[in-house]
Amino acid sequence: METDYTMALAGNPNSGKTTMFNALTGKNQRVGNFPGVTVDRLEGFAGYNGTRIKIVDLPGTYSLTAYSQEELVARNFIINEDPGVVLDIVDATSLERNLYLTVQFLELNVPVVVALNMMDEVKGQGKTIDTAKLSELVGCPVVETVARKGTGKTDLVRTAAEYAAGAGGKGSGFHISYGPDLDPVIEEMERLVERDDRLSKIVPARWAALKFLEQDPEVMEMVSGKSETADRLEAISLEAAVHLKETLNTTPEAIIADYRYGFIRSVCKQCITRVSDPGSRLRRSDQMDRVFTHRLLGPVLMAGVIYAIFFVTFTVGEIPMGWMETLFAHAGSAAESLIPGSLAKSLVVDGIIGGVGGVLGFVPLIACMFLMISFLEDSGYMARIAYMLDRVMRVFGLHGSSVMPFIVSGGIAGGCAVPGVMATRTLKSPKEKLATVLTAPFMSCGAKVPVIILMAAAFFDNSASVMFFCVAGGWLTALMVAKLLRSTVVKGESTPFIMELPPYRLPTAKGLLIHTWHRTWQYIKKAGTVILAVSIVIWAAMTFPGPDQADRVKFENLKARAAVEYSGEQLENRLAEIDKTRERAALAHSFAGRTGRALEPVTSAAGFDWRTNIALIGGFAAKEVIVSTLGTAYSMGEVDAQEASGLARRIEKDPLFTPLTAVSLLIFMMLYAPCFVTVVVIARETSWKWAAFSMVFNTGLAFALAAAVYQAGTLLGY
Ligand code: GDP
Ligand code: MG
Repeated sequence: METDYTMALAGNPNSGKTTMFNALTGKNQRVGNFPGVTVDRLEGFAGYNGTRIKIVDLPGTYSLTAYSQEELVARNFIINEDPGVVLDIVDATSLERNLYLTVQFLELNVPVVVALNMMDEVKGQGKTIDTAKLSELVGCPVVETVARKGTGKTDLVRTAAEYAAGAGGKGSGFHISYGPDLDPVIEEMERLVERDDRLSKIVPARWAALKFLEQDPEVMEMVSGKSETADRLEAISLEAAVHLKETLNTTPEAIIADYRYGFIRSVCKQCITRVSDPGSRLRRSDQMDRVFTHRLLGPVLMAGVIYAIFFVTFTVGEIPMGWMETLFAHAGSAAESLIPGSLAKSLVVDGIIGGVGGVLGFVPLIACMFLMISFLEDSGYMARIAYMLDRVMRVFGLHGSSVMPFIVSGGIAGGCAVPGVMATRTLKSPKEKLATVLTAPFMSCGAKVPVIILMAAAFFDNSASVMFFCVAGGWLTALMVAKLLRSTVVKGESTPFIMELPPYRLPTAKGLLIHTWHRTWQYIKKAGTVILAVSIVIWAAMTFPGPDQADRVKFENLKARAAVEYSGEQLENRLAEIDKTRERAALAHSFAGRTGRALEPVTSAAGFDWRTNIALIGGFAAKEVIVSTLGTAYSMGEVDAQEASGLARRIEKDPLFTPLTAVSLLIFMMLYAPCFVTVVVIARETSWKWAAFSMVFNTGLAFALAAAVYQAGTLLGY
């Protein structure tokens, strides 16, 4: 069936877009990317009256300025892909804030249908909203919905489909006044654009006028050089800015925002009535906040909650993790007996099963942790964590909005620095943004977690404590480095912080499962692609060029002698022993072995032997590779394959690998250069200069700290 037209699902974050998307499209969905950026693009299909409607879930935004990638993606989609209708999902419990975005959609002069979502909660708050009045005031259809229950979705699709059919891609000519200073200017600019065929084809006239007044760099660039009109527009907006500065000491941008809010306040006043006292849920939310965000009790509870997450992860997650280990051990021995040829066997057993298996073994643990973190996010507690930490961030020259990038990067173990660094786009001050970008990679991202778990399993009884210390250490380093940067190379004032705390909400099982699965799947996908490739490369580096001629002769001779001296079972044991010694000699002689050894004189200061060196170099590709490389190295050089089961046991048995080495390795691993994808993103967000800085600085810092701890520990006799 042909797609008849597209509906764009848009709205504030957490307004229920994805829930509505699922309700409308059912199983019929696919995920892609918006062109040129890494923002997820969720698409699905719905049918109405024999027409097929494509539904695209746009990223959640509060506004349509050019400040963040999400905002640009959302508005470019609407301008460039001409959806038949924009379905604006509005959280009716905070109508005032949500309508700010609605107004901007209306100003794009596209057909908009408002879904007043969360109507169940509005009733719980003891309020009613006059939908007909709202529809009349904003000039577009308004439908009440409860996305979570699917209430109103049929009505919504019907209204949207009928409105789209009648609208022919145009809005209702929505128009608010921006006051005596700007109105005439806007009208003049609007006329100029309308008269210019080339410009009016790319941008809606009134919207373009507003964007020029707001000095929107994207729009100005989009039309600049297209005709003389662009220069005229720029001149007029400049003149208006100068005039406002002189007369009111303000900017066009501020006036525009003031008038929009004025309009919205008056709309809300006319539509919302309070029928009873604020609902029990909000009151309960406030009461809960009196405890959860209490000055002293709040942070203590927060530490407790985070510790509890780690504790549950390790006690519950341990069980399925054991199954995974057994599974991979069986796969290893099956491959061992099935695959002919020693080279192919080694590739599969040591390279692929040893490497990728080592990383996949952590899936149950990681899924368990993601599940609990999703619970924190969906319940609203995560926002409280950001709120409480704002006070701390200030002390270190950061901003309340730095908390989210930190948390996304793994501030509560299990994030990723790539979206973390991108999340810094919400920081308006370039200096605070730079300091956040440079310190976010110290957090405990999902890729560091398996390394932490591995070391904890091998050497320490209390895994949850190890994890807790790593997370805390990551924060401590990030904050200290931020302070250092902000008082040296990135000096400058702090800017104020405003954030809204959503009411607490009991998460749904389905929502939790979707979020958990999404993140776990990312982890598995990485194991299947990047880590598989790196495992094979590292396996090759550890296998070739093979033992040299002298060694080969030496081991052949040893075998020949054994054949004379022993017989039966004794002979077999002796031959196996020789093979293992030979394998170890070959590994030491391989490219990787030699590189690792060449670095030993330096790295031994921190207690790293050549195997750890190779693993850490591989870790630059992705930190999980540290685990997979150790897996391969310890599997190849192994002495008694039958006895040793998991990698943790093998490492524990290595006499050179002590608990002190593990501590040193953990410090280095937590702090050294971000993985290369993160480095690329840092370069894109700041510059290659700062990306290079983060690699060199972080590695230097990591090594200095690891070596200091290792030397001190050795002196103290650990
Ligand atoms: P998005 O960020 O806009 O995609 O929002 P989500 O679809 O992820 O929804 C955010 C939260 O609001 C989830 O916990 C939903 O279960 C919840 N939610 C969505 N719609 C409704 C609704 O109509 N009523 C209530 N009470 N909760 C809802
Ligand atoms: Mg969503």
